[in-house]
Amino acid sequence: MPQKLLKSAHYIELGSYQYWPVLVPRGIRLYTYEQIPQFLRENPYITDGYRAYLPARMCIKSLFILSNETVNIWSHLLGFLLFFSLGVYDMSSVLPAAGASREDYVIYSIGLFCFQVCMLCSVGYHLFCCHRSEKTSRRWMALDYTGISVGILGCYVPGVFYAFYCNNYWRQVYLITVLAMILAVFFAQIHPHYLTQQWHRLRSIIFCSVAGYGVIPTIHWVWLSGGFGADIIQAFVPRVLVMYLIAAAAFLFYVSKVPERYFPGQLNYLGASHQLWHILVVLMFYWWHQSAVYITHYRHSQPCPDYSLHA
Ligand SMILES: [Zn+2]
Repeated sequence: MPQKLLKSAHYIELGSYQYWPVLVPRGIRLYTYEQIPQFLRENPYITDGYRAYLPARMCIKSLFILSNETVNIWSHLLGFLLFFSLGVYDMSSVLPAAGASREDYVIYSIGLFCFQVCMLCSVGYHLFCCHRSEKTSRRWMALDYTGISVGILGCYVPGVFYAFYCNNYWRQVYLITVLAMILAVFFAQIHPHYLTQQWHRLRSIIFCSVAGYGVIPTIHWVWLSGGFGADIIQAFVPRVLVMYLIAAAAFLFYVSKVPERYFPGQLNYLGASHQLWHILVVLMFYWWHQSAVYITHYRHSQPCPDYSLHA
């Protein structure tokens, strides 16, 4: 960004929060939608509060100013801390109390690790998307997408492990197919066109398919467990449904840009769709983790039915 242009640009320091300047690193200015580079223009309903043209050091410093990315960054930074703390709590208290096996520890570690990676990739993207180099910004965006796949993997692994706890064969089949699917998404993400606007729809379709695939093992699990009358199904199907409801709501906010679409310029800092998406993703992971804790206790208290011996 040439210095001349930077000086002439209209800007609002701190998004008009004039009483904060002491805390603000010098040189971070906020821009309007028209002033930011093309690669940052994704949501015309967010009209102001953009950071742009920053070197990496200033991107990090911008963590402490109020911009239109502040809630996005902090929601997933706190999300990371939540899943990190849950990991410590599970390993030190929940799992020992449940008489967990080594496998339980491994599955919990994988699940929570995936959630933490997802949160950190997202924090990285929202912190560094305003980097002055488009290439750097794009790389962080690719990492954010990868993080979402890792987060989905973190849902599938404990889900499949505990749903097919008594059926080793199908457990392995679904774990392998899920892993293969996530790997395929990783490779698709390497494609140079993956992050382009033209592939926007395809990206959404890929993510919906990866998340929607879970319906297949769920239906199979209901059938293997003896239908909707079975105790375990009655206890856990509502949890799976709530999970999909949260996921669907999160995705709808993400793609529709509601509510800022109806209040352009009024939700620049708080209440925008991407912030709701972030909070719902944290809620969804947390819900799924609590469901895993619930089903772990169930699996340790109820022995597997006989058919597992022959499976
Ligand atoms: Zn995000």
